Amino acid sequence: MKITSIDAFVLAVPTPKPMALNYAQQKLVVAEISTDEGVKGLGYSLVFGGGGAEAVHAYLETRLAPVLIGEDPLFVERLWEKMFRTDMGMKKQGVAAYALSALDIGLWDIAGKAAGLPLYKLWGAVTDRIPAYGSGGWSKYSERELIAEAEKYAALGCKYYKMKIHHADPRENAKRVGAVRRALGDGVRMMVDVNQRLDVLANIRQAQVLEEFDLVWYEEPVLADDIAACAEVAHGIKIPVATGENNYTRFEFRDLVERRAARVLMPDVCRANGFSETMRIGRHAAAHQIAVAPHVVHELSLQVVGALPNGFLVEFIDWTPPDLFEEMPECRDGCFSVPERPGHGMALARGAKEKYRSA
Ligand SMILES: [Mg+2]
Repeated sequence: MKITSIDAFVLAVPTPKPMALNYAQQKLVVAEISTDEGVKGLGYSLVFGGGGAEAVHAYLETRLAPVLIGEDPLFVERLWEKMFRTDMGMKKQGVAAYALSALDIGLWDIAGKAAGLPLYKLWGAVTDRIPAYGSGGWSKYSERELIAEAEKYAALGCKYYKMKIHHADPRENAKRVGAVRRALGDGVRMMVDVNQRLDVLANIRQAQVLEEFDLVWYEEPVLADDIAACAEVAHGIKIPVATGENNYTRFEFRDLVERRAARVLMPDVCRANGFSETMRIGRHAAAHQIAVAPHVVHELSLQVVGALPNGFLVEFIDWTPPDLFEEMPECRDGCFSVPERPGHGMALARGAKEKYRSA
């Protein structure tokens, strides 16, 4: 089989309320990979909030797609290496990693379709049903909007809900967490997300006032670049630390593991150099008693969690309009069934490309 062409474009998709209060739109950088045998692969990277999507598109189209043309798409690992080593001065972090991720996801989609298997089974399945946590709770939500969102996910059976703690006063954050906690009751446990906003001491103080809430994890306490500081927080607070959505390679994740900087790792398949690198990260974590709960894009992450013995949860942000994907997995009793269609199982809905295309 040979790759004959790659059509890359950007989709700009509006989000619903209340998410739209903080993020009015999302962008997907999409790569449709065609082959001489008629098998097609869909790859895409979700660029959260949309910032930088055009740069990802440009790098994908001008630098990475050309190295795949004429190659056999089933040599996924070899092609991953080829892309990773393209432009050695352009590290595969940030923009370049989103671009590589989209193409790697598209290659795996072809591999699954050629084998007639969903990816989680191609990789050696562990489970076909994955628990999800409802995620959102952004800073611009009123307390009413926050509780309404948490209750919406609880009504879908989710046993976990994650919210942001972005207020400058740690007691204000604790008050908001407490309000949601009381509304949800004991059947739902919670997580909080700092999104890299604090330093080590501020995190220690913030975590202390949250101890009473039996939190599952305390997320992304410091700048993702500063793995030493993350480790210091992890050792200095009683709530388990989760991080990884802004780390990009197995080498960064190896540092997180070696320093015991997190109990839960959260690679994003659209950032951490695709399914290939995310699976390597997940298997490395499995050797160190560390769980994996991939960041966003649950429709893709289901395949990863379904194939890892240390897979924990997928992150469910219910934002996609019904006319974006052909068949979005449905949350039932707080869980998703892993799509059984060959490949990753996702396809753009008819007309989505025309409706949402922005570049
Ligand atoms: Mg996060």
